[in-house]
Amino acid sequence: MVFCWDEAILKAPDVGPARVNFLLRSLEALSRNLESLGHRLVVRQGPPESVIPAVAREVDASAVFTNRDYEPYAVARDERVRAALNEQGIAFRSHKDSVIHEEREVLTRTGTVFSVFTPYSRAWKLLPVPAPVPRLGPPKAPAPPVASLPLPSGGEALGHPLAQHLFPAGERAGLEALDTFLEARVFGYDHGRNVLSEIPGTSQVSPHLRFGTLGIRTVLSRLHSARSRATTAASLKSCDTWLSELIWREFYIQILTNHPRVASGAFRPEYNQIQWQGSDAQFDAWCSGQTGYPIVDAAMRCLNATGWMHNRLRMIVAMFLTKDLMVSWQRGERYFMRTLVDGDLAANNGGWQWSAGCGTDAAPYFRIFNPVTQGEKCDPEGAFVRRWVPELVGTPSDSIQEPWARPLLLARSGYVPPIVQHDVQRGRCLVMFKAVKGAAAAPSIPNEETQE
Ligand SMILES: Cc1cc2nc3c(=O)[nH]c(=O)nc-3n(C[C@H](O)[C@H](O)[C@H](O)COP(=O)(O)OP(=O)(O)OC[C@H]3O[C@@H](n4cnc5c(N)ncnc54)[C@H](O)[C@@H]3O)c2cc1C
Repeated sequence: MVFCWDEAILKAPDVGPARVNFLLRSLEALSRNLESLGHRLVVRQGPPESVIPAVAREVDASAVFTNRDYEPYAVARDERVRAALNEQGIAFRSHKDSVIHEEREVLTRTGTVFSVFTPYSRAWKLLPVPAPVPRLGPPKAPAPPVASLPLPSGGEALGHPLAQHLFPAGERAGLEALDTFLEARVFGYDHGRNVLSEIPGTSQVSPHLRFGTLGIRTVLSRLHSARSRATTAASLKSCDTWLSELIWREFYIQILTNHPRVASGAFRPEYNQIQWQGSDAQFDAWCSGQTGYPIVDAAMRCLNATGWMHNRLRMIVAMFLTKDLMVSWQRGERYFMRTLVDGDLAANNGGWQWSAGCGTDAAPYFRIFNPVTQGEKCDPEGAFVRRWVPELVGTPSDSIQEPWARPLLLARSGYVPPIVQHDVQRGRCLVMFKAVKGAAAAPSIPNEETQE
């Protein structure tokens, strides 16, 4: 098996230490696993279209096998590798692996691709789910003695020194996270996914699905077994909600594959005309967790320190950046990609377009979260806020999500006052969006809706 360090990826502006270090630790685990089975991980560095054909020649291979990656860069790269191999008479065979159903496998009755989640999900569930592939056996012949680079001991050698916590990496960590979640927490997922607690209510398997340290077929097969142990209607429903999240992942992958333009613009092109009014200073305050909105700042500080953020918080901070600060969703998208350990082009882009209201979703731009009520719902006692915003440690729970309600206490705490006023910004934001929607006024709908 060959792993190629591709400098175009290592030097890309949206690649950051959390992901590079997760990848590095996962490669170490992969290398050990392969060795225990009598195989080898060969590591090289350089342009894949030169490296892969060179290794293939060295081992006299007649074919190279790979699993498909659906990001636009990867698709183009694999085409270059295929062409270089074919020129030498070596076959290039790619396979479906990271998804259950690929981009043109879930289709409408008229054979077109879906751009709305609910009917996509319904059609997805009607298709058969493949079983996990058997574990790799020992090699049929000894591995040819080809040169391999050592894996660097840390990300600094790759230009990505880790300043964050290291997220548990590798296949074993992925399986442990999955099994721990499916043992019990999945049965309370419907509630657990919306609150912040010491014991996470979600699985935290996203970095593993992102990097392939956990296979999606294994996840589905183990979810199926867990579901058969569900004893109440509520726990069955929770299992189905979790399945739905896994389908969201595939939905966004198929959106990216079928509409690669979303990587650089809004799914609904009219939204590319928005004149974003937020300033650099506001964006910087958001990045560093200094907006004066406790749930937003706690979430961003948590992200910066750990590379991780809970889904509800991702929605809250994304909505706050685009609707309260009126900063382009693409700036937030890039920041997330650089900082998140599970940074994934399709899911991240889908999440940001959903939050900004310019994506596939039918419920659009006028859905605006109120950061105070959102904070009260997901962190009612304020424990999460106190953990990440220590300035507010002495603030009582009834005002922890709006510390400005106690001006004296706020002044003494050293915490920043809010940099914008939500109610004012909400009105300004609607005007900004309506300007590109022309005469189409926002229908009267509630301030907030839950998603996903
Ligand atoms: C603004 C924004 C940015 C996001 N960026 C990313 C990203 O870069 N990478 C990423 O994997 N997810 C992203 N998500 C989706 C979601 O927040 C994470 O997948 C989830 O928080 C991961 O935690 P978990 O593994 O505990 O999820 P669980 O709740 O346990 O869900 C199981 C799995 O389902 C998938 N999933 C869940 N929700 C979504 C979703 N809304 N869209 C796509 N897949 C989903 C993930 O693979 C996840 O691991 C983003 C969401 C938003 C709103």
